[in-house]
Amino acid sequence: MTDLTRLSAADLAQKLRRREVTSVEVTQAFLDRIAAVDGAVHAYLHVNAEEALATARDVDARREVGEELHPLAGVPIAVKDVVVTRGMPSTAGSKILEGWVPPYDATLVEKIRDARMPILGKTNMDEFAMGSSTEHSAYGNTHNPWDLERIPGGSGGGSAAALASFTAPLAIGTDTGGSIRQPGAVTGTVGVKPTYGSVSRYGLIALASSLDQAGPVTRTVMDSALLHELIGGHDPRDSTSIPEPLPALVEAAAQGAGGDLSGVRVGVVSQLQGEGYQEGVQARFTESLELLRRAGAEVVQVSCPHFEYALAAYYLILPAEASSNLAKFDGMRFGLRVEPEDGPVTAERVMAATRGAGFGDEVKRRIILGTYALSAGYYDAYYGSAQKVRTLIQQDFDAAFEQVDVLVSPTAPTTAFKLGEKLDDPLAMYLNDVATIPANLAGIPGISVPNGLAEPTDGGAAMPTGFQVLAPAKADDRLYRVGAALEAALEKSWGGPLLDRAPELG
Ligand code: GLN
Repeated sequence: MTDLTRLSAADLAQKLRRREVTSVEVTQAFLDRIAAVDGAVHAYLHVNAEEALATARDVDARREVGEELHPLAGVPIAVKDVVVTRGMPSTAGSKILEGWVPPYDATLVEKIRDARMPILGKTNMDEFAMGSSTEHSAYGNTHNPWDLERIPGGSGGGSAAALASFTAPLAIGTDTGGSIRQPGAVTGTVGVKPTYGSVSRYGLIALASSLDQAGPVTRTVMDSALLHELIGGHDPRDSTSIPEPLPALVEAAAQGAGGDLSGVRVGVVSQLQGEGYQEGVQARFTESLELLRRAGAEVVQVSCPHFEYALAAYYLILPAEASSNLAKFDGMRFGLRVEPEDGPVTAERVMAATRGAGFGDEVKRRIILGTYALSAGYYDAYYGSAQKVRTLIQQDFDAAFEQVDVLVSPTAPTTAFKLGEKLDDPLAMYLNDVATIPANLAGIPGISVPNGLAEPTDGGAAMPTGFQVLAPAKADDRLYRVGAALEAALEKSWGGPLLDRAPELG
């Protein structure tokens, strides 16, 4: 029998519909794979085996009696641990939420449950989604399935590594500055950050509310489109949710897979290449531009002059919002509660002891930064200036999208680095998101598509690279058309999916 864990979600869905396989068989195959390889990868913080199998049995019974089901019914999924799940631990990778079991589901989880998709478990991440390597998790790091000595990206390294190690056919990620796309790039998987407001944030443990967006983590562009259509759409429980239907994403992916991009204008962002970008990353990117040209696209250079300030603006806006969002973790309401070692047990001292013990170094660093940037006398100089830069970046995008339909760049400047390499150098860590952050500041959608392998500068086996496509707000369909066309052209040149070349685990 074919190895079910190797199939795309679209193929699994089709086999389920045709009753060639049951959801119990599919779900069990992934649970077996988790048992076999996740000890080495550590993509999961919590495996939800019993409930996943119960959902699978239920959906099989419904299919048996001919009930009309969602196209993804019975296809299992993994969920990043920053998304709250009723009855299942939701720690956001932090000690401070250890032992907290949410009494409700995020809207996107509700949709997953309504579609009757078994939830395999919760995936590892940098604490409160702060990081680019998943090394800031309080529960140990995740390994890159291509080379276990290297990072899987972050903050959503767990979801990406689950896809790359075939322990889930679909996963949910969140992207505040690149945490879906950058892990996708360095693990050879697909990741999509939807338009801000197009997937509900209700039930996401907030990092930076004006930047956060949940989205699909998959192995193929079509799988992302299928999942995106399920989780997206208006939600009255999220006040920033766009009250409009999504564009036709699956249709756009199908059209793109046909390989014809004639009439599509592609802009290469001059500021997102060159210095700081690894030679092999740049080379694969240039080769892919040629494939887009051959598919009929017109490729031009576009300048976005304010992008050079994006990272600096982001690291004021994000800590400012995060310091406010994380104020609710006080030892009173959720998870951990630590009493002071000596002296009186007052509310303030319990809060200080809990936050001191419960938050990791990176979280503390950002809370201090954010609190400072928001303090009286500094607000205008820091937060105010950063907001002005944000507007300039939005204007760069507006001007660029008058000339072209999509913008492109490498997703991340380098291939996956070694575990531990950048842990003591926050600025080096922050630079991983130099190409992904502008989209979050502007609220526009982006996709990372596997873009071939490149030699790491420090030796070892060749590692994945990603190709990023950005589109105007609410035009997420363009990501899927261009992404699917590129995927089809690349897979033709490779003779199959990139992940077929990953080393065997277990
Ligand atoms: N790596 C970036 C950060 O540390 C992005 C995080 C994210 O998208 N959640 O903030």
